[in-house]
Amino acid sequence: MKLYNTLTKKKETFVPLEEGKVKMYVCGPTVYNLIHIGNARPMIVFDTARRYMEYKGYEVNYVSNFTDVDDKIIAKANEEGVSAEEISTRYIEECKKDMEAMHVRPATTHPLATKEIDGMIEMIQTLIDKGYAYNVDGTVYFRTRKFDEYGKLSHKNLDDLQAGGRSLLVTGEDQKEDALDFVLWKPKKEGEPFWVSPWSEGRPGWHIECSVMSRKYLGEEIDIHAGGEDLIFPHHENEIAQSECCNGKIFARYWLHNAFLNIDNRKMSKSLGNFFTVREICEKYDPQVLRFFMLSAHYRSPLNFSADIMESSKNALERIMTAAQRLRELSGDKEMTDQEQEKLTAMGEYRKKFEEAMDDDLNTADAVAALFELVKFANTEVSQESSGKFAAAVLKEMAELSDILGLSLEKKEETLDEEIERLIAERQAARKAKNFARADEIRAQLLAQNIVLEDTREGVKWKRV
Ligand code: AMP
Ligand code: ZN
Repeated sequence: MKLYNTLTKKKETFVPLEEGKVKMYVCGPTVYNLIHIGNARPMIVFDTARRYMEYKGYEVNYVSNFTDVDDKIIAKANEEGVSAEEISTRYIEECKKDMEAMHVRPATTHPLATKEIDGMIEMIQTLIDKGYAYNVDGTVYFRTRKFDEYGKLSHKNLDDLQAGGRSLLVTGEDQKEDALDFVLWKPKKEGEPFWVSPWSEGRPGWHIECSVMSRKYLGEEIDIHAGGEDLIFPHHENEIAQSECCNGKIFARYWLHNAFLNIDNRKMSKSLGNFFTVREICEKYDPQVLRFFMLSAHYRSPLNFSADIMESSKNALERIMTAAQRLRELSGDKEMTDQEQEKLTAMGEYRKKFEEAMDDDLNTADAVAALFELVKFANTEVSQESSGKFAAAVLKEMAELSDILGLSLEKKEETLDEEIERLIAERQAARKAKNFARADEIRAQLLAQNIVLEDTREGVKWKRV
């Protein structure tokens, strides 16, 4: 399998540190709001990478954090008059629901920054002891110029950075020895959450979190570190500096970065306000459509979001679903003919193409194309005259390749029921809040899907009519 490594700017053959095992860390979201579909891109593409590596027989230890202490979380907590912990706990729960809907499997470990502060204090102390960090009035900075290899990931030159250094100077950081130095620990401000440390009551900088959590759950050397391309500089560059200076070892062998999800050719982001949450999109589409849309492009290509592209993704996915349903109906116990056996052997070509695409730096766009060739094969080669075992074998092939992409061909009856239950609960809440307009709207929405509600003494019952 080849992977494009940001560090070397080349596609390289993937060789794990330990045979048959992959240690992979993916930077997770900062939890102060519902995630938007831009945040969903790394989740979906790296979950697919994980699934494919597992398919190839690797045991994948997959770690992805939640950043649960941050200025934005604190700002949101102040806005609502609740604690920062309440905000982060709420949005971690919501994020996990979105992940499940998009078939993003839970990580082996999802560490929380706030639960790892001791490890961060220890790493910062080691960096101070080794001369890589210094404390000024309770703020600890990393001495960037002491690390000769700084800039190796983003391919930036320290002097160019220095020239642009003024923009790196953040207000209140004027006591730094050098404009390129970055914060490892900062003192609390009034009303902020804090932890006791040898330098001040305060909290860690963002970059140190990932260095510490990655080391704790995966070890000092890992195979793959991944995230969106906006993280290359400074986040990942700083992680490398911290980890390699502290541990004296190469931190991660392969650095993978997804390109942005854009809208009107601009990055979708909370700060620009041009975003859709995963939740909003899933009200209109099966979450699998979102997943399918993300995988229809290569992860390193920018992807533009539009209503049209969602519609065509929906139609494309439906073509797979319809083919699968037809195969399900044609499946049975009748034995295959010799001719069908031969066709089945020829069908192996699509899996081969699929694997070749995925082996080529996770080219999901070509893998999806191979899946569609299989769909075409199914639609033309399997008919009423085919044996039940032949139809079943083609269905199995289609389901297995889809599963590597995290797409399930199962009928959606169950989730539909869940959605109904959710709407009923929402309607009850609306009635309780005397929002009868919303309650009626939900009843009408369900009725439009031929679902009738009945208010009984034991609660609301529903049936399909
Ligand atoms: P954040 O919560 O902003 O730290 O982002 C969490 C993850 O989502 C990071 O890996 C980001 O690089 C990624 N990300 C944020 N916005 C986008 C976008 N528009 N397209 C692709 N990835 C994004
Ligand atoms: Zn990170």
